[in-house]
Amino acid sequence: MRKPIIAGNWKMFKTVKEALAFAEEVKGKAEVDGVESVICAPFTNLPALVEAFKGTTIKVGAQNLHWADNGAYTGEISGEMLKELGVDYVIIGHSERREYFAETDETVNKKIKAAFKYGVTPIVCVGEKLEEREAGRTKDVCKTQTEAAFAGLDKELAAQTVIAYEPIWAIGTGKSSTSEDANEVIAYIRELIKGLYGTETAEAIRIQYGGSVKPANVKEYMGMSDIDGALVGGASLEPASYIQLVEGAR
Ligand code: PGA
Repeated sequence: MRKPIIAGNWKMFKTVKEALAFAEEVKGKAEVDGVESVICAPFTNLPALVEAFKGTTIKVGAQNLHWADNGAYTGEISGEMLKELGVDYVIIGHSERREYFAETDETVNKKIKAAFKYGVTPIVCVGEKLEEREAGRTKDVCKTQTEAAFAGLDKELAAQTVIAYEPIWAIGTGKSSTSEDANEVIAYIRELIKGLYGTETAEAIRIQYGGSVKPANVKEYMGMSDIDGALVGGASLEPASYIQLVEGAR
């Protein structure tokens, strides 16, 4: 049985003070048996959140890392630095990073390996742009991105990876993919994993949907056969909304 995972992606929102106020509100509430709850916050918030969530089941994630162990990379953060803080997850290859910060399939692959090297679990984002969807290329794009992301990664690590299928046109737009469409693409991604690693890994790997998920639609996605959770931006910022998302994934 795959454990559903709700991950909030705060993007570039919340100061430390705001993050701590959020943590106080969700403790004991965004904690539901059988659902994993993760907050992926800006780097500056990570130490405070790890501390605030100690003794709870809520996990903390980063939104990026560099693939090198260390070096002259001004402005970057390594896997070792995240590990030392007690961070459990890291988002890799989010479409905003692919679009604005020159993230490529190759850097995504290197970053996944760097995350695992330091025991941080990657949440790897894949998904098509609107024009790619309209051209009927959704599955091709997901295939290219997924195969490149997993290149050279062994089976045990592949099974622990979380994939987030996020159609780019659905991010922050209020236009979500229908649950049927999202499930079809996610089932296809699971088939790709089966082709790469076999049935056992494909059955174990968790694949989230992301793109305008909110309390009102989370249950619909969670009711689908292949959707194992959600990566949520806007609707993860308010404590009450985040709590409802976690409850909705039960
Ligand atoms: P959204 O963002 O929920 O605001 O659409 C999702 C994401 O970018 O991960």
